[in-house]
Amino acid sequence: METTFYADIILPVPLPRLFTYEISQRWINDVEIGMRVVVPFGKKKYYSGIIYSLHDQKPEAYETKEIVSVLDSTPIVNETQLHFWKWISEYYMCTLGEVYKAAVPSGLKLESETKVHYNTNWVPEEKLTPKETMVLDFLSEKKTATVQDLNNITELKNSLPIIKSLLDKEALFVSERLKDGYKPKTKKLVQLAPEYCHDQKLQNVFTELSRAKKQLEVLMVFFTMIGGANKNNYSKAIEKNLLKEKSGASLSVLNELIKKGVLLEVETAISRLQTDTLLTDGLHELNPAQQNAKQQIEQQFKEKDAVLLHGVTSSGKTEIYIHLIKEQIDKGKQVLYLLPEIALTTQITGRLKKVFGNAIGIYHSKYSDAERVEVWNDILHQENYKVVIGVRSSIFLPFDNLGLIIVDEEHENTYKQFDPSPRYHARDAAMVLAHMHKAKVLMGTATPSIETYRNTQLAKYGLVELFERFEGIQMPQIITVNVREEKRKKRMHAHFSATLIEHVTKAINNGEQAILFQNRRGFSPYLECTQCSWVPKCDFCDVSLTYHKHINQLVCHYCGHSSYLPKTCKACNSPALQTKGFGTEKIEEDIKIIFPEIKVARMDLDTSRTRKSHETIIGNFERGEVDILIGTQMISKGLDFDNVSVVGILNADSMLNYPDFRAFERSFQMMAQVGGRAGRKYKQGTVILQTSNPDNPVILNVINNNFKNHFQSELAERELFKYPPFYRLIHLTVKHKNQNTVNQASDYLGQYLRGLFKERVVGPQAPTVSKIQNWHIRKIMLKIEGGVSLIKVKEMLRDAINTVVSHPGFKAVVIQADVDPM
Ligand code: ADP
Ligand code: ZN
Ligand code: ZN
Repeated sequence: METTFYADIILPVPLPRLFTYEISQRWINDVEIGMRVVVPFGKKKYYSGIIYSLHDQKPEAYETKEIVSVLDSTPIVNETQLHFWKWISEYYMCTLGEVYKAAVPSGLKLESETKVHYNTNWVPEEKLTPKETMVLDFLSEKKTATVQDLNNITELKNSLPIIKSLLDKEALFVSERLKDGYKPKTKKLVQLAPEYCHDQKLQNVFTELSRAKKQLEVLMVFFTMIGGANKNNYSKAIEKNLLKEKSGASLSVLNELIKKGVLLEVETAISRLQTDTLLTDGLHELNPAQQNAKQQIEQQFKEKDAVLLHGVTSSGKTEIYIHLIKEQIDKGKQVLYLLPEIALTTQITGRLKKVFGNAIGIYHSKYSDAERVEVWNDILHQENYKVVIGVRSSIFLPFDNLGLIIVDEEHENTYKQFDPSPRYHARDAAMVLAHMHKAKVLMGTATPSIETYRNTQLAKYGLVELFERFEGIQMPQIITVNVREEKRKKRMHAHFSATLIEHVTKAINNGEQAILFQNRRGFSPYLECTQCSWVPKCDFCDVSLTYHKHINQLVCHYCGHSSYLPKTCKACNSPALQTKGFGTEKIEEDIKIIFPEIKVARMDLDTSRTRKSHETIIGNFERGEVDILIGTQMISKGLDFDNVSVVGILNADSMLNYPDFRAFERSFQMMAQVGGRAGRKYKQGTVILQTSNPDNPVILNVINNNFKNHFQSELAERELFKYPPFYRLIHLTVKHKNQNTVNQASDYLGQYLRGLFKERVVGPQAPTVSKIQNWHIRKIMLKIEGGVSLIKVKEMLRDAINTVVSHPGFKAVVIQADVDPM
């Protein structure tokens, strides 16, 4: 009897297991692990899934269906990636399907609901099949359709293979949340027109052109560029621009030749990610301190897999990375350079492109899906990119030969994905990824996280320090201003102390710039009735609404819902509603009153939703078109401005008083990083730190630039109160639309867990914001001491969760796990 073969498939569905499908004889020689296949799922749906394994074990529990078709001729995901996915799903307690969804750009995972668009710039180059033509005809009219729609019109059970083939031809593109629209960039080429590809004809042209000297000249240059006027070169095309440049002729002379039909102009798509810069600049020479740091890093890599480079802002860490990257490329290895989302700006990519030219790929979540697919394919087929600079999701790219992963600003909490699952931490996952590739990890920051620094103390990671700024620029001088005192003395103008205004004024008069930092966006965090203290709250979330003045609306920062300002108090009808607290929008308004002549810009989530607006703000500030930049923590991320002499931190207290065990750690990082923007190049800068609590130890540590002290006191607190790095945390979130149900389910889960884990269970509790988008939320925290097997704990947790959600009373209850929450 013939053996039947099966494939276990990862499907993009939130179900915990893999699905086994039969492989018909037809496909048996075509399938490999990591390829995409189309399979039926449920009653009507088709999905493209990834082959996880191949075997001949018929599943006991269910009748298998057959794979409908195989989409790839070579795998799009390699086996190392699949191991990595598996690790992520186990460690972060999610399904492989969820990892697949997060890891692969949507253009590579077609589902029934996937939206397909017609590429209006497409030029057909090859013949299409009748079915392809049918799909294209339909789409060229409709522009957009779902895969399901296309199934219907083609009367095929499954149009995915056709769509895939059209995607490969770039006639279509796929979107999930398309921002820029995909227009392939084109460049113009010229070549000899076919009718002149003949020696005799050419001779005639030369004779004819003897009266048009300039055109003749261009033609001569053209022939030199293609390598001489002989048959072998006739079909060669060159860039139109290049011809113009080399011949020194005007565009009209060139176009004349095209008009006459001697030269033919063709347009061809070029990869949008390619730059024209080649390996130009070479490397900056490292100064002795940098040289020394680099040697130490290399030394420590001999024994350790990970090293922390603790270097103050502007010490030249990035230059050191560049040198290390170069060495990896020379060895034929790939490098992944991770950056927090917001720090991935043209500033940094520009610096790297100067050195690595086309060998550098950029993977940004604000890029369109088409661009992400392009990077994916480039890495997969090992084409141009040797280095990828990217945000957290770039750990999922199909690397097969990593030598080094750089995690810049390793302390940043945006490395952790909050929602949806997988809730992974890219820095921590990078350790595992590097291990799979036998690669090294270099973390860099001016303000290490407590966890990472502890690991250096335990000698798990190496530590290299760089406490000298490049070219000996001094660290900024920090002046604290006691806001409470100032208020008493009536020396505050709006939210600005006299000291702050004085320094900003001086800076402006000197032609320098200032940055004002306030960690809240909007105009004022809430509105309050002066009569009865009523505060308007979101209808869907248990949180007060933030007032945004430019749109004159109240906005919920949790669900985005906005509503008009009430004219009167909804509790007592009094019209006396007052704005409370202050956000960046209010700072902007107030500063414009104090400095009416000055150009002010604001950078926060509201003004920088797109990559472009974000870069425009940075660009304008860099070019000196803006004098004062106001912003949230966005402005502290890896930006390097030459002309900023003053940084104002308007309210240090709101960060310090935040109810979270990491509040002090974050405040230290934030203040040190924001302060680091001051006085980068030419002279010592000043930081004005406004607080009502100038003796707070965190503030003192910031002023004295004393990280070690900060670390020691944080560590002591963490040990005392059983927090990381001494204890591992797992958060469980229980959600339901009904408050009673959520209470009952979370109580039940809490009791169940207490039976297993005893006093390690904290909660259930209603979190500070206990309702979001009509979902009631309860939290349970698990604190697991060192030495306990996390694998075992997670197994028991999974069982507990399954027990609760399969309880008949708790059917629609959602329970999410967050391992190592931030
Ligand atoms: P960090 O990453 O530690 O904040 P950077 O690498 O951005 O520091 O360096 C700060 C500034 O000093 C940058 O403008 C950088 O170009 C410059 N710089 C650093 N090292 C060198 C070097 N060896 N040669 C020339 N310029 C350097
Ligand atoms: Zn009232
Ligand atoms: Zn809301």
